[in-house]
Amino acid sequence: MKYLLVLAVIAVGYAFWRGQRTGAPPSKGKRPPLPAPQDMVACARCGVHLPRSEALAHGSRTYCCAEHQQQDAR
Ligand SMILES: [Zn+2]
Repeated sequence: MKYLLVLAVIAVGYAFWRGQRTGAPPSKGKRPPLPAPQDMVACARCGVHLPRSEALAHGSRTYCCAEHQQQDAR
């Protein structure tokens, strides 16, 4: 009878352990896919880094906003 109790505790413990192990991967797998990496450029005026798609280009120089583009043009 004593062994039956030990076996039951081990069985419950094992089931709980398996439940936790199988429960973790799905939540990790549901993460949204990372966006594709983008080229980063620095503003020629203030040096802040931003994606190339959001930067304002003026010749070979890039700017974070129109204000900095105008300030650097002077
Ligand atoms: Zn700037």
